[in-house]
Amino acid sequence: MASQRITSPYDVAVVGAGWAGLAAAFYLAQHGMRVLVLEASRRVGGRAFSFVHRGSGQRLDNGVHVLLGLCGQFQALLDTAGLGEAVRYQPLLEVPVMAREGRATFRSARLNGPFHLLGSLASYSLLRPAERARALWAGIRIERMNDVADWDRATWAEWLRQAGQSERAQRYLWEAIGTGVFNARANELSAALALKTFRLLFDGGWRGGRIGLFQWPLQAVSEAFCRYLAARGVDIRLGERVTALDVRANRIVAVCGSERHAVPQVVLALPPKRLREVVDRSGIGHQVPVPPFSMSPIVNVYLFYDRSVWPHDLMLLPDEWGAMVFNRTRLVQPDEDRGDILAVSISAASALRGKEASFMAQEVIRGVRDRLGLPEPVSIQVVWQPEATFLAVPGTEAQRPGPTTPVEGLVLAGDWTGTDWPACLEGAVLSGRRAAETCVAGDASRAVAFG
Ligand SMILES: Cc1cc2nc3c(=O)[nH]c(=O)nc-3n(C[C@H](O)[C@H](O)[C@H](O)COP(=O)(O)OP(=O)(O)OC[C@H]3O[C@@H](n4cnc5c(N)ncnc54)[C@H](O)[C@@H]3O)c2cc1C
Repeated sequence: MASQRITSPYDVAVVGAGWAGLAAAFYLAQHGMRVLVLEASRRVGGRAFSFVHRGSGQRLDNGVHVLLGLCGQFQALLDTAGLGEAVRYQPLLEVPVMAREGRATFRSARLNGPFHLLGSLASYSLLRPAERARALWAGIRIERMNDVADWDRATWAEWLRQAGQSERAQRYLWEAIGTGVFNARANELSAALALKTFRLLFDGGWRGGRIGLFQWPLQAVSEAFCRYLAARGVDIRLGERVTALDVRANRIVAVCGSERHAVPQVVLALPPKRLREVVDRSGIGHQVPVPPFSMSPIVNVYLFYDRSVWPHDLMLLPDEWGAMVFNRTRLVQPDEDRGDILAVSISAASALRGKEASFMAQEVIRGVRDRLGLPEPVSIQVVWQPEATFLAVPGTEAQRPGPTTPVEGLVLAGDWTGTDWPACLEGAVLSGRRAAETCVAGDASRAVAFG
């Protein structure tokens, strides 16, 4: 066998440089730990990445990533790294909705939760008065429930039905808000996760409800964040796929090809499928059981125009697969004199699985262009992400693990772990922070919270 180098100048190795891994590295470094980040691909940022569009030369994201004012952990990372301006928040939540039956707007008033949404619900014209009253009552129930965890076995649609929500209320209110947030439809989603998340939205007040949109390509944000980490001594290595771990008495050896990195602790910040591969190859699959989560797709269709064609920032189309349309040009480069680039983002897009990109483009053009009255675009780019986020079906909440594992020194992170958040950037960062807290404590039973 070729000679193998054993290196160990680090306290912790973080495997995976998605936002969960980057957050773990950030908090570990903040705590004075020496951190090595091992990332399999040639870029950082994981599932939040950008690519260069050949036609326009522009850096586009794999999918429009939306934040809410509630995403305080993610924003705090950016602020600390001096990158706060990468995200711009609406002054107040405002999302126009265009449906077959008319137009309405979700907006919030400058009030504390849950009162910030009351006025909008009272005037939400896509629901009949009785449906609005029942939606208000459902909201009050959500606020008062103390058996949320018991609803993990039911679907969100089942909960909504027993709470008296009509099909229209589900489509034009609960799913209109929820499909993008959960990347799942109400009839496949754990009611417990939906209830927890809606409660966050209600309690977050006007600040928490504001939509935040990236002003920079996602890749530029993660790269700038890595430069910040590197300046604080974090060693980030790209193209280093960890194939297995060799768990010894007081250290774990991360195996990357012919490289070996021996460290006291390892944070595995990987999606479930990749995590399962690593633990199975390491012979510790029985100790670190990985839930058999399946993944839910998102498709983004970019429509390119040579002029300004749509005088809006964003709009929700509940009758067109719940598509959210963003005017990237107005949102990101309002001063530039170039044509509109519209991004049509469709979450929970499993109905399109297996279809050709040209079919997706045609479907989107037919539905969305007709609804919005848009002209023919100059060109189109379809970005299909088959494994965008884990699908939080009933039973999932109970299976999402915390950071600790029975293997000493081995800690988990990732948007799918037990954060009480749906799969998102905020959940990823929160999981990374908890993983770091667990490592700092150095003992699974004594996790500490950073101030
Ligand atoms: C199209 C799309 C739209 C989205 N929209 C939103 C949104 O609007 N708002 C929002 O908050 N979230 C959104 N998300 C979800 C968000 O991107 C994810 O929740 C988040 O990026 C997950 O981060 P993570 O670190 O948990 O996992 P990942 O980003 O998957 O990171 C895991 C990393 O591990 C690396 N890796 C894998 N195997 C190995 C190995 N063996 N060794 C070393 N490295 C390895 C991978 O290359 C990857 O970089 C969206 C996702 C997609 C795809």
